[in-house]
Amino acid sequence: MSKLLEVKNLTTSFRIGVGLVQAVRGISFHVDEGESIGIVGESGSGKSVTMLSVMGLLPDYADIKADSILFNGREMTAMNEKELRAMHGSEIGMIFQDPMTSLNPLFTVEQQLTESLKIHQGLKKQEARARALELLKLAEIPNPEARLKQYPHELSGGMRQRVMIAIAIACSPKMVIADEPTTALDVTIQAQILDLLNHLKQEMKTSIIMITHDLGVIASMCSRIQVMYGGTICEQGTAREIFYDPKHPYTWGLLNSIPKLTGDTNEKLIPIRGTPPDMLMPPKGCPFAPRCQYCMPVCREYMPPRTVLGDTHAVACHLMHPKAPKVLRREG
Ligand code: SF4
Repeated sequence: MSKLLEVKNLTTSFRIGVGLVQAVRGISFHVDEGESIGIVGESGSGKSVTMLSVMGLLPDYADIKADSILFNGREMTAMNEKELRAMHGSEIGMIFQDPMTSLNPLFTVEQQLTESLKIHQGLKKQEARARALELLKLAEIPNPEARLKQYPHELSGGMRQRVMIAIAIACSPKMVIADEPTTALDVTIQAQILDLLNHLKQEMKTSIIMITHDLGVIASMCSRIQVMYGGTICEQGTAREIFYDPKHPYTWGLLNSIPKLTGDTNEKLIPIRGTPPDMLMPPKGCPFAPRCQYCMPVCREYMPPRTVLGDTHAVACHLMHPKAPKVLRREG
């Protein structure tokens, strides 16, 4: 499979009055054509900032540096604002967490759906309307004719998210970035939206980057997962490696904090104690050290190197050192 997106050594900082917030600290990853990957981590881990940096959608006080961001053979770091903007919607679609804030309350579904079709594909009014209808059907929206005339506030939360998905795929982009697309929805609608994204991925061969704090959400839809903590990638691997052979204590913590569908129903979930690091002054060594029950003196002094465990599995943890004590994951 060929690489659709390849990011090398991305660093993003925000200049604020009291200093520099180091949101993303030198990460590298790729997405293959037609592949779905998941980026998982708590709030403030850098997962959303990573993708907003790639898209060039951060405010002026953000400082974005990368050795290379290659999308579909084109170097995005060399693009100007106009070129980047032309890619949004046409080649890369985005779905955000809360469609109520992403959709414009003053325009109908039809106006919002046809806008990018007119701009990026040069469609005339009637052609754009016909395509908008098609897209609503694709997004499994019942009674699409009537929905076109409605405003966002007239739709349910699930319906609004389906409209957002229809807008994101309007120009058949090569890649869709879905940032916590199901967080604001109840579990039944969540499952429907995930099914829809899965279906669209298979139908349109679109690559999907799913950003979430919930490993459970991406279990069924992503072939590879990267776990982020403190602006770094602490573990990356196939979904099987992350779920069945995780190596990083933070990944263990994430897995212990999601409910299992089998086993003892009285089983307690184990939260990860402590809070994420202050990225104005990130810890000198491993960012997870203050919360890690396996922390060693070396962890507080030195950033753990990336240890490659196989073709797809890599971990940044001092426990991977051959002389480190052998510890076992404590499962919840
Ligand atoms: Fe824990 Fe040390 Fe591994 Fe960090 S490097 S996760 S502190 S064991």
